[in-house]
Amino acid sequence: MTKSTVRIDPSCMDDFDPDSLPAEEALRRILDGVNPVRGVEKIPVRSALDRIIAEEIASRINVPSHTNSAMDGYALGGDDLPASGIREFSIVGTAWAGHPFQQPVRTGECVRIMTGAPMPDGTDTVVMQEHVELRAGRATIDARHSRGQNVRQAGEDLRVGGIVLGAGKRVTPADLGLLASLGIGEVPVHRRIRVAFFSTGDELRTIGEPLEPGFVYDSNRYSLHGMLTRLGADIIDMGVVRDKREDTLQAFKEAGNIADAVITSGGVSVGQADFVKDALDAVGQVNFWKVAMKPGRPLAFGTLNHALFFGLPGNPVSVMVTFYLFVQPALKRLMGETDARPILFNARCESSLKKKAGRTEYQRGILSADTHGNLIVEKTGPQGSGILRSMTEANCFVVLPMETESVAPGTTVQVLPFSEIV
Ligand code: AMP
Ligand code: MG
Repeated sequence: MTKSTVRIDPSCMDDFDPDSLPAEEALRRILDGVNPVRGVEKIPVRSALDRIIAEEIASRINVPSHTNSAMDGYALGGDDLPASGIREFSIVGTAWAGHPFQQPVRTGECVRIMTGAPMPDGTDTVVMQEHVELRAGRATIDARHSRGQNVRQAGEDLRVGGIVLGAGKRVTPADLGLLASLGIGEVPVHRRIRVAFFSTGDELRTIGEPLEPGFVYDSNRYSLHGMLTRLGADIIDMGVVRDKREDTLQAFKEAGNIADAVITSGGVSVGQADFVKDALDAVGQVNFWKVAMKPGRPLAFGTLNHALFFGLPGNPVSVMVTFYLFVQPALKRLMGETDARPILFNARCESSLKKKAGRTEYQRGILSADTHGNLIVEKTGPQGSGILRSMTEANCFVVLPMETESVAPGTTVQVLPFSEIV
């Protein structure tokens, strides 16, 4: 008897594959295998922008270092404030930021004071100039005031020994200013990581080469260049490796010797020209998964010598999605950065989105606000995993969870703004 069906192997085009891992599970497994690089360097403050703090930094001074005025006005002793009616004070001098008033101030006296000037001895209160009437060279105030007002106390921002920046923090422009305000000239940061990457595919051509029919320009190395540079990695672009087992093996051996992490694109499925998994098996340790997500189903993760290895799919959108979801969090941990989970927002979906249950989808969207200030999102046209324009037009991923099916306009969806991850 002849069978009326043929055997069907699971394929990455299937809508549901019982062997595939949920995306969060894949990320958890990846992060479990990553430890921060050893190696700390002390560098000048300005060069520390976007680097990762390696040891917590404590303040060596009080900030502010002296009790000072928060306003332009008149400094006086709180005991002299009238409980009712008005009171006149003689003005005995002026205190400027950088030019303190040096004598003690007695009862019935006040000092003209500028913002940032140290509070003269005998004063603890500032009355802002708008609330002072000058009568015949004397300052008159009424009963609206309270002791201690408009004064910044020494150490109120930071006490000596207080922790200013914790280990694992990515240094921002505000951090540079804060460090400078403490007089700190050098910062201990993790060393930069080295990331090697190459594309695989006989069909790939490089900019400058003619494009014969059936060939495509290699775009993945360029988006990877951008994503890695922005992350702050030192990058080693190893070019294109042809779909030959020997070439792939050779490239793997080389990459594993020169980098802290290695990223490839393409050749990670189970087609006859896909050698990534094989090569990783031969010269490294492999974890190979199908992840229940779209785009970006097949993903190889493992180690090559001492380097982390990420074998990303070939399709240009899949490369970017899997990079942001899996590679970037892992590289951040490798760099020593403390996990900062990106924030997802709710938005009203203005488009109808096609989706099948059983996988998480990361569709590309344009997030904006309606006239009431509520978040709305539209899709960026066709969502094929080869359509890179869907990424350049987008400013967010629309994250559609496993169980969700197609989405009708007006439905609330979750979005992940690129500003959270890029
Ligand atoms: P693969 O995973 O190697 O089967 O590749 C999947 C699809 O992505 C194919 O259509 C490839 O031509 C395309 N592709 C693979 N690598 C690149 C690349 N570096 N740049 C642009 N397209 C690529
Ligand atoms: Mg290929």
